[in-house]
Amino acid sequence: MCGIVGYIGSKDAFPILIKGLQRLEYRGYDSAGVALITEASNLAVYKTRGKVSDLESFTQHKDVSGSIGIAHTRWATHGEPNDVNAHPHYSQSESLALIHNGIIENYAVLKEDLMSRGYTFKSNTDTEVLVQLIEYVKVSNNVDLFTAVQLALTQVVGAYAIAVLERGHPDCIIAARKSSPLVVGIGDDEYFLGSDASPIIEYTNRVIYIDDDEVVRLKRDSEPRICNLNNVEKSHEIKELEMSLSQLEKGGFPHFMIKEIFEQPNTVRECMRGRINVERNRVALSGIIDHKERFLNAKRIIIVACGTSWHAGLIGEYLLEEFARIPVEVEYASEFRYRNPVLCPDDIVIAISQSGETADTLAAAELAKRQGAFVYGICNVVGSSIPRMTHTGSYTHAGPEIGVASTKAFTAQVTVLTLMALTIAEEKGEMSKDVFEQYVQELALIPDKMEQTLSVAGYIEDFSSIFTYAKNFIYLGRGYSYPVALEGALKLKEISYIHAEGYPAAEMKHGPIALIDREMPTVVIAPKKGMYDKVVSNIQEIKARKGRVVAIVTEGDTVIRDLADYYIEIPDTEDCFSPLLSALPLQLMAYYIAVVKGCNVDQPRNLAKSVTVE
Ligand code: GLU
Repeated sequence: MCGIVGYIGSKDAFPILIKGLQRLEYRGYDSAGVALITEASNLAVYKTRGKVSDLESFTQHKDVSGSIGIAHTRWATHGEPNDVNAHPHYSQSESLALIHNGIIENYAVLKEDLMSRGYTFKSNTDTEVLVQLIEYVKVSNNVDLFTAVQLALTQVVGAYAIAVLERGHPDCIIAARKSSPLVVGIGDDEYFLGSDASPIIEYTNRVIYIDDDEVVRLKRDSEPRICNLNNVEKSHEIKELEMSLSQLEKGGFPHFMIKEIFEQPNTVRECMRGRINVERNRVALSGIIDHKERFLNAKRIIIVACGTSWHAGLIGEYLLEEFARIPVEVEYASEFRYRNPVLCPDDIVIAISQSGETADTLAAAELAKRQGAFVYGICNVVGSSIPRMTHTGSYTHAGPEIGVASTKAFTAQVTVLTLMALTIAEEKGEMSKDVFEQYVQELALIPDKMEQTLSVAGYIEDFSSIFTYAKNFIYLGRGYSYPVALEGALKLKEISYIHAEGYPAAEMKHGPIALIDREMPTVVIAPKKGMYDKVVSNIQEIKARKGRVVAIVTEGDTVIRDLADYYIEIPDTEDCFSPLLSALPLQLMAYYIAVVKGCNVDQPRNLAKSVTVE
């Protein structure tokens, strides 16, 4: 959600900033802007509603010189997406320009106070309040910008990553963060800023992750200076990034989403690498082995997550309860964090987030930690906020996920949860040796079976175009296939804007069946081993009401094949591993329907990749 880029060095800043914004486009945004200190010593701000390409057109024939600048893609929270509300925002005297990711929660009180002191506002944003506050603090205390930012932020309630430029100071960028991500890249005599490493990786793989309540000064010919709000100097390790530039590019596919769907056999292989040993029938997840006693004594596991990660969490619930026999609750992080949950020292809280920056999940994990629970993170982005604050955890190793609708991160999360459940089951002795070994062998085959599943993409593409007429879809599944139904419906909603509901198949009779008619297609996930006969009855009920059915079935199924209008085969596997296969045709279906409808699949309207505000 929103992107921040900064550059200070000896090169032209503008092209670097624009390229950086393009690399952050996947996060979702509605307007873009840039501030530069030009060769003529102007503090120039250019901004516009729309895409980064609109900003490029807007800045043609304008002075974009200079080797220092900050740039932003905005995802509006306060004030509609328009040119005025876009960032950067000037302060009253136009001596400061600021970009901001996050929300200033007490902006109204601060604004009123500033207005009583004669400050006027051009935009409806919370961000403009912050830049005015910094100017006010700077002038009234007669301090430098670094100190003014520190002092101003002590008055701020909310979440922010900010970067500020000051007229007359072409040698320095001041930045700060709380609860929103911010990374500094260290090049040769140059510094970069980014909301994540993607705008930086092209130039350097040496980064510093800024922590909450820290302010950083990036100055030519000096080391970065990092202090907390009380001006205590903080030292930081320089980390080496493992990401490569090619991972951020489309590799011949028309969209990131389809590239990422097809990457899944490999990402699941990567996720299992070093964690599963087929010859020795072993599974070992170091996060669990290193804290074995915690897991052996756990009375309860609570999974907190949002969106797709929450669906992965539901699959985790089924796996952990079945394999490890530990009671599991799956909570929306946004509900959990505000409802004063009862937590006990023997509880384990698992926080799942692709970006590792999801604001609600981060806050839920922090709350759990404060209340004494043991907190385990399952994240994709290495070095992000959740892995840094949790007691331990496992990375999903899915590589950068750029498509806003999550695909490979989902299957990687499910893979980690599967490995977790198997590791705990073995440590606890909850599973017979035979069953355990059978599961290990089968899990190792899943990446090949994913490849086989994806080979039907052409067929799915052909029939998907038939469904672009639909206004509504229903997705049904039972047991392990129920969260898959939820995830399939979410994918369709996210990228094709068709309304879709996921339901446990048996619940259909308690309401949704009233909606079934010729116009509303039903997608049924019905692998052979998951309460198959009952799902067949549900399909009969839909057909009796003239509903059209797309069924995901195990290969060789003839019963559903004869009942359904369209059927997609997945290879046979254990019921507990079937989500790793059945999710794929649903991703493909959502993708192809959205493409035929002409939707922007990689950046669906209103959505953000990394939801860094609550
Ligand atoms: N709250 C700010 C605004 O609405 C920043 C939003 C963002 O993170 O892009 O302008």
